[in-house]
Amino acid sequence: MMPETLSAAPSAALRLLTDRDALRANWQTLDRLSGAARAGAAVKANGYGIGARIVVPALFDAGCRTFFVAHAIEARDLLDLVDPQSLRVLHGPVTDADAEWMKATGITPVINSLAQAGRWRRAGGGPCDLMVDTGMNRLGIPMSALGEDILKLLEVDVLLSHLTAAEEDSPLNAIQLTRWCEARAIVQHERASLANSAGIALGADYHGDLTRPGLALYGGVPCAALDGAIRQVVRPQAVIMQVREIGAGDPVGYNATFVASAPMRVGTIALGYADGYLRCWSGKGVMRCGDRSLPVLGRVSMDMTVIDLTNAPDVGEGDWVEASYNLPDAAAASGLSQYELLTLLGSRFSR
Ligand SMILES: *Cc1c(COP(=O)(O)O)cnc(C)c1O
Repeated sequence: MMPETLSAAPSAALRLLTDRDALRANWQTLDRLSGAARAGAAVKANGYGIGARIVVPALFDAGCRTFFVAHAIEARDLLDLVDPQSLRVLHGPVTDADAEWMKATGITPVINSLAQAGRWRRAGGGPCDLMVDTGMNRLGIPMSALGEDILKLLEVDVLLSHLTAAEEDSPLNAIQLTRWCEARAIVQHERASLANSAGIALGADYHGDLTRPGLALYGGVPCAALDGAIRQVVRPQAVIMQVREIGAGDPVGYNATFVASAPMRVGTIALGYADGYLRCWSGKGVMRCGDRSLPVLGRVSMDMTVIDLTNAPDVGEGDWVEASYNLPDAAAASGLSQYELLTLLGSRFSR
């Protein structure tokens, strides 16, 4: 006979809470700030680490109808959730097989090069987006190639470009805006799109017909203009596995980088750098339980971190604590970017 325990599922010791109300509210805020343009959403990299299959339905609910992923494989994993043509693959058809697959599924490719334009045509073509490089020199058709004949054969829905430094007061913004307007005059298209999250705050000239926020949807604040308008969305939480009392002179964790100066109560949580809680939080991070702050002691390990429970005598084994993860503050404290803080969050979190 099977032991009864075999039929039970193991419990999660890490969970990532996603505040769907905040996510919906952030999209609506960014849509409103986009003025006459509609907001889409960047949901690449598994919805910035939160889980694309979690964020896409919530964003759809809020009113979003255009979703940008990077890889074709990311679009595949969303096909049962939204209309295929609303999925835009930023990397475009990297191979002929990609082009054929996008044609067959009805997913919209973003064409980034003349080679990709040829590939899409060979696969049968149809509506696509077109990325123009207005100064980033990363991915997209160079301005000098916009007159090429093959581009005239494309049915361009959204004419895109991407800002290199929208979160800064950089002269590049105006230069890219001018080139994007030039591109709009050359290439036949239905809609035009330039702004990411920070680009939305640059004003109506940058809005076109569609904006593409990512970071700010998920609680990131890329520029002062969005301060106070964006709500926190993700809350990483971990369970306390063990509690111990240590004495003055006792070290904690690898390499004994923390040594207690007085008797204290410490707890070990099931969160480590393999989960995206990187070693930069060693001796620096803070967990919270209610309104109590529980500082990280010593080095963050791969699967564990030790925290100070001295000021939380009622908190013990089996209780949950939450990493201080308000993105602008966490970025300032850790030296990681707000983008990294989100996309690092690992697969052991139950989402
Ligand atoms: C990631 C990305 C976005 C979203 O940028 P945020 O800074 O996260 O708002 C928009 N457009 C393109 C092309 C992107 O790659």
